[in-house]
Amino acid sequence: MDDTVRDSNLNRKQYMEFLKEISYTLAVSNDTQKMLSQINEIFQKYFCANNFQIFVMDDSTSAMHDFVKNWIVIEKNKQQEYVKNIFNGLKTELDESFVINNKLCSKSLQKSAEFFSKNIAETNNLLYFPVFDGNRLIGIIELNFDKNGNKAVDTEFLTILEIAITQIKIVILNKISDRKLETSIKFEQTIKSIAKLIETQFDLDYILPIIGELIDRFVSNHLIYIFLKDDKEKYKLFWPLDCQDENVLKLLTKIKDSESFIISKNGKAGVFAIRNEEKTIGLVAASSNIDKLSNTDTNYLCQLAAQTSVTTQRANSYAQVLKYATLDALTGLNNRRQFETRLKQETANAKRNKKPLCCIMLDIDYFKKVNDTWGHAAGDCVLKNVAKVVIQELREYDIASRYGGEEFCILLPDTKIHEAAFVAKRLRAAVEKADINISDDVVLDSDTLKVTISVGVSEFTEDMENPEILHQNADMALYEAKKRGRNRVIVFNTLF
Ligand code: GH3
Ligand code: MG
Ligand code: MG
Repeated sequence: MDDTVRDSNLNRKQYMEFLKEISYTLAVSNDTQKMLSQINEIFQKYFCANNFQIFVMDDSTSAMHDFVKNWIVIEKNKQQEYVKNIFNGLKTELDESFVINNKLCSKSLQKSAEFFSKNIAETNNLLYFPVFDGNRLIGIIELNFDKNGNKAVDTEFLTILEIAITQIKIVILNKISDRKLETSIKFEQTIKSIAKLIETQFDLDYILPIIGELIDRFVSNHLIYIFLKDDKEKYKLFWPLDCQDENVLKLLTKIKDSESFIISKNGKAGVFAIRNEEKTIGLVAASSNIDKLSNTDTNYLCQLAAQTSVTTQRANSYAQVLKYATLDALTGLNNRRQFETRLKQETANAKRNKKPLCCIMLDIDYFKKVNDTWGHAAGDCVLKNVAKVVIQELREYDIASRYGGEEFCILLPDTKIHEAAFVAKRLRAAVEKADINISDDVVLDSDTLKVTISVGVSEFTEDMENPEILHQNADMALYEAKKRGRNRVIVFNTLF
């Protein structure tokens, strides 16, 4: 196409070429930014039209913002104004069908042609096309013509434009609905992950930060905070470590117990109640310096806070039940309480029967990194698998317990220290060898990873003043193993 066509209206063949190029571009480009710039080039080439822009109405989720980052997002409070400025001006001149049915010049092509030829000069050569999703105006396409293009806006020109714009609209609508679907799948996954937490965990200190991270990941354009009420009914930040956000802090003083959420004046922050039996016990807060919370964001956050309420309520009831239980819910090993009971029993037995007794303490190396890299669900999976390996390597009457987070404690009745050291080395090697499968809902791809453990071993002696010393000595040996570089076994000795 040479430059001369720019100065006059195109012939039919050129119009067809134009449409073909538009169709091709729409069919091949996945990337919205690339698509826009290519369409821009085509308009430039055939019509001297530059600045092809797409405006979208800002009531999409924050995930959407990322997707349309090269489109001009019209803030919610400005939308009315935009629509009024752009379309009401036209409405007075054209028949209603132009705006309402989204059909450019559908009823009176001739009339609109006259209107545009008159208005192109006056309105700085801008043409606007509304994009509707059903009855809802979700976007505006703007076409900016070069004044020097000297184009006559005739019926044929408008018809061709309508065909091109219709195609573009369909692609935009498809892309928006794809993104909506993607967001709602992500939302379902987040809700499910929050609900699933209580299958294995019931400690709020552990659960709430994970919920915070999950919501934070979902509402990616806003920072998430979790507050809990203290004894004096004041909201205290629980997660993360710091909140300096003025908007959020102001909302804490404003939300009433009867309200399930409130949004700040500037629309950029909101707090959402976490409830336990009709009482607000905490808040999920969301805030951004840039983005307002859209209706969709607000809706999602309400539901996420509601799921958080259910999870925390259940965790509380489980905690009550498990207080009297003996097993650890995640690994199925003895819990810490039971470990302490058994420690007393076994040391008494050893003393009475003059039998040896040993204790092994083990701790997963760099476990925090596993959580940070793969997520807490993967971390839980690692804990379960390490527990499995431990069980496989022990005799039936050895007593394995989950002592704390990623620490395990094993009592070996009737076992001398060199035998216990041998068991400990076997354990270390077995964990090092194991491929741990961490496929899970949270980690989408199935993956295997490896971990190592550090191990401390100690032996019971009759002169020990209390049973705890046996455990403390193993712990000191474990500390020494960490100090010496991890992934090793150290036997306690008094020189530590
Ligand atoms: P080191 O080699 O010195 O032991 O380093 P580490 O990262 O293993 O040790 P650290 O004590 O710094 O971190 C332990 C982490 O274990 C922190 C905590 O979030 C995590 N954790 C504790 N309990 C659980 C649990 O039940 N599930 C999961 N996924 N993580 C847990
Ligand atoms: Mg560790
Ligand atoms: Mg530890």
